[in-house]
Amino acid sequence: MKRLVLLLLLIVGISLNVAAEPLRVMVSIQPQVYFVKQLGGDLVNVTCLLPAGAFHGMYEPTAAQMKDLSQAALYIRSMLEHELAWWDKIQALNLRMIVVDATQGVELIEGHEHHHGEADADAHHDGKEEHGKDLHIWLSPRNAKIQTENIYQGLIAADPANRDAYTANRDAFLQKIDALDQEIQSKLATLKTRTFMVFHPAWGYFARDYELEQIPIEVEGKEPSAAEMAQFIKLAQDEQVKVIFVQPQTSSRTAEIIAKQVRAKVELLDPMAEDWLENLRKTADALANALN
Ligand SMILES: [Zn+2]
Repeated sequence: MKRLVLLLLLIVGISLNVAAEPLRVMVSIQPQVYFVKQLGGDLVNVTCLLPAGAFHGMYEPTAAQMKDLSQAALYIRSMLEHELAWWDKIQALNLRMIVVDATQGVELIEGHEHHHGEADADAHHDGKEEHGKDLHIWLSPRNAKIQTENIYQGLIAADPANRDAYTANRDAFLQKIDALDQEIQSKLATLKTRTFMVFHPAWGYFARDYELEQIPIEVEGKEPSAAEMAQFIKLAQDEQVKVIFVQPQTSSRTAEIIAKQVRAKVELLDPMAEDWLENLRKTADALANALN
């Protein structure tokens, strides 16, 4: 009899395990896919609002994403404009999902120089919400730790049964982030210059954390005018800019022109890459190479 009970328990246990579906999590941008996978592993099934390679200034959800959204148990917000623009619709699709604001607890810095012109509001994009804060929070290991904690809180709220696994994964990931922070710091400790130019100003927090200066070329989410270009070339000369970063989602034309005038390198960096850790390492290497 005892044996039968044990056998039954075993069968029930196995079938429960097989039946346990991964937790459905929806995130806003690709680097958040990485964060959630670090914490959730096989316990989660992550989908992303903004497709790989897309720019967060322009976005429209697909039918497949609407379906993913309607089935998500947890949503991680980025507060970027592609999400803000659709937020009411996203919420209406799924009133039961737990929503986590990944920026919560992050000390937001001002977005770069903001000209309130008569620019077309629809075309406007500069990675800032209406208060002019810089929302590219994920490109900093220190912010990533806060974001990790926010995601962890969401995961244990949505799936309390697996709390221990999430906790162990969180602790391991926080250690990896600390190691990365140390690594970047030592790579950038002794640069000859600390200023870089970038088309789209995504690296504000990275610059803050490692005492670098980011000079954006983009003006109000657009390419600069001819007059502004002349100013940028002068500025690049004065600041002895050695490297200008561009990203796959935006034009590199103006960066190429300025770089040619001041003999700087143009380097491709992708702020939206999913492999967050490797991407930040690559960024530090590119800076160390160019600024030494
Ligand atoms: Zn951006």
